[in-house]
Amino acid sequence: MVTGGAGFIGSAVCRHLVQALGCSVINFDKLTYAACLASLAEIDGSNRYAFVQGDVADRQAVRAALELHQPDAVMHLAAESHVDRSIDSAEPFIQTNIVGTWTMLEEATRYWRALPQDRSDSFRFLHISTDEVFGSLGADGLFTEDTPYAPRSPYSASKASADHLVSAWGHTHGLPVLISNCSNNYGPYHFPEKLIPLVILNALEGKALPVYGDGGHIRDWLYVEDHAEALCLILDKAQPGRTYNIGGRSERTNLDVVQRICDLVDAAAPALPSGPRRDLITFTPDRPGHDRRYGVDCSLIQKDLGWSPHTDFETGLKQTVDWYLARRDWWQPLRDRYAGQRLGLTAAITPS
Ligand code: NAD
Repeated sequence: MVTGGAGFIGSAVCRHLVQALGCSVINFDKLTYAACLASLAEIDGSNRYAFVQGDVADRQAVRAALELHQPDAVMHLAAESHVDRSIDSAEPFIQTNIVGTWTMLEEATRYWRALPQDRSDSFRFLHISTDEVFGSLGADGLFTEDTPYAPRSPYSASKASADHLVSAWGHTHGLPVLISNCSNNYGPYHFPEKLIPLVILNALEGKALPVYGDGGHIRDWLYVEDHAEALCLILDKAQPGRTYNIGGRSERTNLDVVQRICDLVDAAAPALPSGPRRDLITFTPDRPGHDRRYGVDCSLIQKDLGWSPHTDFETGLKQTVDWYLARRDWWQPLRDRYAGQRLGLTAAITPS
């Protein structure tokens, strides 16, 4: 059972499970603004794929899906995932990321306890989290699995809360849990509110390319299909109770990323009358509380499970740009839903 399987990473996980591994998947997703069932078109005709619309914070819906479909494992990806939106309104982040994770844990524990011994021994609950729970780095160093938590945005605080709940259910209730903390993902089927797809589409259409602050913020970029492979490996091979960091070993400043996209779009799409796309870059007010640098040490997953990222950033970014150029059919409906307006500048208190 994959929660959030109609989202960016969840859909890559569903595709990988069904197409590469031959597994059966139940995709449990509420279908929020971030969902796109078209991302599952390659597998939705398969008899190994089923979709259930439901909210992870809805106890009865979660219970019914577990009891009906009898999964061997839960991969919990459903979340509100956009930092800027968490600044404008934290409420859905608290509700889905914290209350929803607690509900999933309660219902997974209930379900797991009722399984026959052989199935309960192999059951796993894998919670997918972020490197943002560790806070912000200076110029040096990397996040390891032992880095203390120091979340600084409403989004990362809600994910950190969820991680702690997952650990607590492992320690206290014995649920066989696993946690992964990964860096920024990019690749096909990424909702165009996030930096890379937003910039690709704005560059294609000759629109302004917003870069927050001075553009010097650093992220470690992980190709989504490498991430999906890592998650399936963790689910299959890791000892219950383990936590793994997953990264792309590709740190770049945001400005570097945007400039590289400009060059790739210039090379692959018709030229703009206004000139090179780098001229579209505009520096905009910084995100409140914007973490300066994230960097992930993923040597533990390499040592224990033999995983390391296959896709270097230059290759993955070119593949991503080419995919967006070819797949207007996928992104145009989402672009009509969200045209790229700036979010996350209100820093308002969520009304009660
Ligand atoms: P996304 O925003 O693309 O998709 C989230 C999915 O969850 C959507 O399909 C949405 O409909 C679903 N969802 C939201 N609330 C729900 C609810 N209450 N019940 C059921 N479904 C619900 O997110 P993503 O980028 O694919 O991220 C997936 C997971 O990975 C999240 O837990 C996120 O915190 C984590 N993560 C993402 C990144 C990244 O770079 N995208 C990095 C690190 C960790």
